[in-house]
Amino acid sequence: MRYTGLVLILIFLILCLSVTCGRGKDDAPHAVIFILIDTLRADGLGCYGAGEKASPRIDALARDGALFRRAISPSSRTLPSIMSIMTSLPPSLHGRIYPMEDKLKALSPDITTLAEALRQRGYRTAAFTEGGYISSFFGFDRGFDFYREPGTSGEQKGGVKETYRHAEAWLRKNSGNRFFLLLHTYQTHLPYEPHEDTFQADTSLPFPQGFGFDHKGKFEADPSSLSEKELEAVRELYRGEIQYVDRYIGKLVTLLKELDILDRSLIVFTSDHGDEFFERLHFGHSRTLFEELVHVPLIFHYPEMIPSGIIVDQQVSLLDIFPTIMELCSGKIEGNIFFGRSLMPFLSEAASKVFAAPAYSEVYRYNYLASIRFKEYKYILHLRTGKGELYNLVSDPGERNSLVEKEAATAREMHQKLTEYLQNAAAVRKTLRQGGAVGAPEEELREELKALGYLQ
Ligand SMILES: [Zn+2]
Repeated sequence: MRYTGLVLILIFLILCLSVTCGRGKDDAPHAVIFILIDTLRADGLGCYGAGEKASPRIDALARDGALFRRAISPSSRTLPSIMSIMTSLPPSLHGRIYPMEDKLKALSPDITTLAEALRQRGYRTAAFTEGGYISSFFGFDRGFDFYREPGTSGEQKGGVKETYRHAEAWLRKNSGNRFFLLLHTYQTHLPYEPHEDTFQADTSLPFPQGFGFDHKGKFEADPSSLSEKELEAVRELYRGEIQYVDRYIGKLVTLLKELDILDRSLIVFTSDHGDEFFERLHFGHSRTLFEELVHVPLIFHYPEMIPSGIIVDQQVSLLDIFPTIMELCSGKIEGNIFFGRSLMPFLSEAASKVFAAPAYSEVYRYNYLASIRFKEYKYILHLRTGKGELYNLVSDPGERNSLVEKEAATAREMHQKLTEYLQNAAAVRKTLRQGGAVGAPEEELREELKALGYLQ
């Protein structure tokens, strides 16, 4: 039996237990507002190079706070990724990895979610989501005093307007108390639909009614039938969806100012994964762990504590969000298993002093893949065959030329780090008590998942 990994975990946990930054509970933010825009590529935002018209309100949040240029999601699928964000645990550890397990168990009682941790610290907790894979069925409601998921699939698209409307009503009633608010939307998820006054207002472009799963299926079956003009139109529709979301971020910031809590609130803005634009002859996500799917935006905004204009070039993982929030809220990180690390050093001093850490991702759907991204390299392991791919992200950002044979020593080193990480996850998983059976999903949820293109 290998003990190295377990010893590393123990050392890591002891380190976690001893981390403090001198902030007492009274210094904690009045509110933690977690904005999760499902399916948002980092390069879709102005602050990541998409141009000043792409997302001016989100860019303003980044300018007034901290922008993480290289944030990596733990999966290219909604369910495992968001559960990893909420628990700071790898997908293979928390076990929310399959599209619809017949024998799905409740989340282990030994796992603490972000909402549970904040509720324990006196925060009132509310979530405004658009259901699907972030449904209470999968355990996402744990720790929330209030959990909204729409009852019908029709509410899912165009959802940010409705989701925001409900969240605004809740905020107006509850902003006087300390609170944690999760805002989630599928607005930038397929199908992409046109909106007034956004990029795709030009109706002479292809797909004037939007781009949906039928189009996706047709072009994936016959890739040569997709023209450059059509591909550009798909990108325009996606940009339009981002502009549409951006307006609601602006509304939210205005509301927080009006309620006089903006400066006292920690806003975290991110996404669970990106989306493909036919880079590998596919649209959508879940298929690979290439950059278009795992490079996501990450912004922290908290004027009372985080200086404006911080830009972090070092790579971080979305598993780091939970421990960072904990440190900001209680001054210490305690009693929990985190596979991520606190990003506090990036938020308060020169980021160059912080050590570089690998970022890991996993996906189990069309392919079973795990990856490690470290320094200039990414290594992707095919878990079913044991074959690996190695890419130099600096000289080959499109990840087209595998160096697995040419740079065999690096590939071996990355392979070893990745397998140790997965073994650590498996070892910790074995120590957790299993949750009880949850039964079969209701028809309503199956319909929602169908509307998102996940079930036939
Ligand atoms: Zn998603």
